[in-house]
Amino acid sequence: MAETIFSKIIHRQIPADIVYEDDHCLAFRDISPQAPVHVLVIPKEPIESLATANGDSAELLGHLLLKAAHVARQEQLEGWRTVINTGTEAGQTVFHLHIHVIGGRPMAWPPG
Ligand code: AMP
Repeated sequence: MAETIFSKIIHRQIPADIVYEDDHCLAFRDISPQAPVHVLVIPKEPIESLATANGDSAELLGHLLLKAAHVARQEQLEGWRTVINTGTEAGQTVFHLHIHVIGGRPMAWPPG
Protein backbone atom coordinates (compact mmCIF):
# COMPACT_ATOMS: atom_id res chain seq x y z
CA MET A 1 0.00 0.00 0.00
CA ALA A 2 1.31 3.46 -0.91
CA GLU A 3 2.33 5.77 1.94
CA THR A 4 -0.39 8.29 2.78
CA ILE A 5 -0.54 11.47 4.78
CA PHE A 6 -2.07 9.44 7.62
CA SER A 7 1.05 7.20 7.83
CA LYS A 8 3.03 10.40 8.27
CA ILE A 9 0.73 11.43 11.14
CA ILE A 10 1.13 7.98 12.76
CA HIS A 11 4.91 8.29 12.52
CA ARG A 12 4.86 11.90 13.75
CA GLN A 13 6.40 13.15 10.51
CA ILE A 14 3.67 15.78 10.25
CA PRO A 15 1.69 17.34 13.09
CA ALA A 16 -1.88 16.50 14.04
CA ASP A 17 -4.21 17.37 16.89
CA ILE A 18 -4.35 13.91 18.46
CA VAL A 19 -7.26 13.26 20.83
CA TYR A 20 -6.81 9.52 21.46
CA GLU A 21 -4.14 6.88 20.88
CA ASP A 22 -3.55 3.26 21.80
CA ASP A 23 -1.48 0.39 20.39
CA HIS A 24 -3.89 -0.17 17.50
CA CYS A 25 -5.35 3.18 16.54
CA LEU A 26 -5.00 6.93 16.51
CA ALA A 27 -7.71 9.61 16.57
CA PHE A 28 -7.05 13.20 15.53
CA ARG A 29 -9.02 16.28 14.50
CA ASP A 30 -9.84 16.64 10.81
CA ILE A 31 -7.91 19.51 9.24
CA SER A 32 -11.05 20.65 7.42
CA PRO A 33 -13.83 20.11 9.97
CA GLN A 34 -17.37 19.71 8.68
CA ALA A 35 -18.92 20.25 12.13
CA PRO A 36 -17.85 21.63 15.53
CA VAL A 37 -16.42 18.17 16.29
CA HIS A 38 -14.81 16.24 13.43
CA VAL A 39 -12.33 13.55 14.41
CA LEU A 40 -10.79 10.78 12.30
CA VAL A 41 -10.16 7.38 13.86
CA ILE A 42 -7.56 5.36 11.96
CA PRO A 43 -5.84 2.00 12.42
CA LYS A 44 -2.08 2.14 12.85
CA GLU A 45 -1.93 -0.82 10.48
CA PRO A 46 -2.20 0.54 6.94
CA ILE A 47 -5.50 -0.81 5.54
CA GLU A 48 -6.40 0.98 2.31
CA SER A 49 -10.18 1.01 2.70
CA LEU A 50 -13.11 -1.03 3.92
CA ALA A 51 -13.19 -2.60 0.45
CA THR A 52 -9.76 -4.17 0.94
CA ALA A 53 -10.20 -5.18 4.60
CA ASN A 54 -10.70 -8.88 5.23
CA GLY A 55 -11.53 -11.24 8.07
CA ASP A 56 -8.03 -10.87 9.51
CA SER A 57 -9.02 -7.33 10.48
CA ALA A 58 -12.35 -8.21 12.13
CA GLU A 59 -11.13 -7.56 15.66
CA LEU A 60 -9.36 -4.35 14.64
CA LEU A 61 -12.47 -3.04 12.85
CA GLY A 62 -14.55 -3.66 15.96
CA HIS A 63 -11.91 -1.88 18.03
CA LEU A 64 -12.03 1.17 15.73
CA LEU A 65 -15.81 1.43 16.07
CA LEU A 66 -15.65 1.19 19.85
CA LYS A 67 -12.95 3.86 19.91
CA ALA A 68 -15.04 6.09 17.65
CA ALA A 69 -17.75 5.92 20.33
CA HIS A 70 -15.12 6.54 23.02
CA VAL A 71 -13.95 9.69 21.22
CA ALA A 72 -17.55 10.89 20.81
CA ARG A 73 -18.12 10.50 24.56
CA GLN A 74 -14.79 12.20 25.28
CA GLU A 75 -15.95 15.12 23.12
CA GLN A 76 -19.21 15.14 25.13
CA LEU A 77 -21.38 14.57 22.07
CA GLU A 78 -24.95 13.48 22.70
CA GLY A 79 -25.41 12.35 19.12
CA TRP A 80 -22.88 11.87 16.42
CA ARG A 81 -22.41 10.47 12.95
CA THR A 82 -19.77 7.93 11.95
CA VAL A 83 -18.87 7.82 8.26
CA ILE A 84 -16.49 5.61 6.30
CA ASN A 85 -16.10 6.83 2.74
CA THR A 86 -15.06 3.87 0.59
CA GLY A 87 -13.71 4.52 -2.89
CA THR A 88 -13.33 7.68 -4.93
CA GLU A 89 -16.98 7.74 -5.99
CA ALA A 90 -18.03 7.82 -2.34
CA GLY A 91 -15.65 10.68 -1.57
CA GLN A 92 -12.65 8.80 -0.18
CA THR A 93 -9.59 10.98 -0.71
CA VAL A 94 -7.08 9.39 1.67
CA PHE A 95 -6.52 5.68 1.05
CA HIS A 96 -5.83 4.70 4.63
CA LEU A 97 -9.05 3.47 6.26
CA HIS A 98 -10.59 6.05 8.58
CA ILE A 99 -13.82 6.58 10.48
CA HIS A 100 -15.10 10.15 10.55
CA VAL A 101 -16.73 11.03 13.88
CA ILE A 102 -18.82 14.14 13.28
CA GLY A 103 -21.03 15.97 15.76
CA GLY A 104 -21.97 19.15 17.54
CA ARG A 105 -24.59 20.31 15.06
CA PRO A 106 -27.90 18.97 13.69
CA MET A 107 -27.45 16.72 10.66
CA ALA A 108 -29.80 15.89 7.83
CA TRP A 109 -30.49 12.46 6.41
CA PRO A 110 -29.89 11.26 3.75
CA PRO A 111 -26.50 12.89 3.25
CA GLY A 112 -25.90 14.67 -0.05
P1 AMP B 1 -12.05 11.09 3.06
O1 AMP B 1 -12.48 12.15 2.08
O2 AMP B 1 -13.20 10.29 3.62
O3 AMP B 1 -10.95 10.21 2.51
O4 AMP B 1 -11.49 11.87 4.31
C1 AMP B 1 -10.18 12.34 4.39
C2 AMP B 1 -10.19 13.41 5.42
O5 AMP B 1 -8.86 13.65 5.82
C3 AMP B 1 -10.78 14.75 4.95
O6 AMP B 1 -11.90 15.09 5.74
C4 AMP B 1 -9.60 15.71 5.12
O7 AMP B 1 -10.02 17.00 5.55
C5 AMP B 1 -8.77 15.01 6.16
N1 AMP B 1 -7.35 15.33 6.16
C6 AMP B 1 -6.51 15.39 5.08
N2 AMP B 1 -5.26 15.70 5.48
C7 AMP B 1 -5.31 15.84 6.83
C8 AMP B 1 -4.35 16.17 7.82
N3 AMP B 1 -3.07 16.42 7.51
N4 AMP B 1 -4.76 16.23 9.11
C9 AMP B 1 -6.04 16.00 9.43
N5 AMP B 1 -7.00 15.67 8.55
C10 AMP B 1 -6.64 15.60 7.26
